[in-house]
Amino acid sequence: MTECKTIIITGSGSGIGKAAALRFAKDGHNVVLNGRTLDKLEAVRDEIGRDDQVLICQGDVSDNEAVNRMTEETINRFGAIDVVVNNAGIAIPDDFESSSHNDFDTIINVNVKGVYNVSKSTLPHLKTAKGNIINVSSVSGLGGDWGMCIYNTSKGAVSNMTRAMALDLAKDGIRVNAVAPSLTSTEMTSGMKGNDSLIKKFEERIPMARAAQPDEVADVIAFLASHDARFVTGTIIPVDGGLSASNGQPPLG
Ligand code: NAD
Repeated sequence: MTECKTIIITGSGSGIGKAAALRFAKDGHNVVLNGRTLDKLEAVRDEIGRDDQVLICQGDVSDNEAVNRMTEETINRFGAIDVVVNNAGIAIPDDFESSSHNDFDTIINVNVKGVYNVSKSTLPHLKTAKGNIINVSSVSGLGGDWGMCIYNTSKGAVSNMTRAMALDLAKDGIRVNAVAPSLTSTEMTSGMKGNDSLIKKFEERIPMARAAQPDEVADVIAFLASHDARFVTGTIIPVDGGLSASNGQPPLG
């Protein structure tokens, strides 16, 4: 078994965060489950089935006091923080003209400030552990989408925060990386179920012609967290079935 580490995963009540928590727990690590909805976190803890390995810290990543409480509770329980997975995120579809200031604040507070809050709060412990951070960006943080202006803004910020943090924290032995998933089958995209024409368009654009499953993203997160990635920092790894390999033109042949 690999060395037991303590790993905070934000937004781990569902989707990619839940898949990451299950993977890290299966690998023998301590996992800290964070999210806003207690019963979802309890269900993940029950699925893991090992209470000694799991700490639930209910709270909103945009609330700095709640984040500091999570850091304190993690140290009290496990004595260290080795890895932080900044996964919590929200999406509100809106094109630029119809988008609102209120939505702008809501999305940026969770998707960008949440990453900043959790990373800042855990930094002294990550320094001690020579740990690492994995941010969950998106292909929407590598290029623009139609009708997702604020989400694109937030994920672009997460991608570049990843690079800048990697530069600043390398001297402390802390690695910072990100994954950039394309369409993944989670609660966030569940509204697309039954929209066959939209799903068909995605299948045409994604070379591997399907959505990702949450565990396919979690496995890349687990790699970035591991010793195998010990010389990898400042990268944004697309987990996108080849989507970002294309310049956007249709097949010419
Ligand atoms: P999801 O909705 O299942 O998971 C997001 C989780 O974050 C939820 O459990 C939610 O409760 C939690 N969360 C939301 N706001 C929070 C807050 N303020 N504080 C704490 N927790 C909060 O969807 P998902 O697809 O698993 O999303 C995970 C991450 O992956 C997000 O950052 C999302 O932007 C990113 N992503 C998703 C896709 C996709 O197609 N599903 C693609 C690329 C990137």
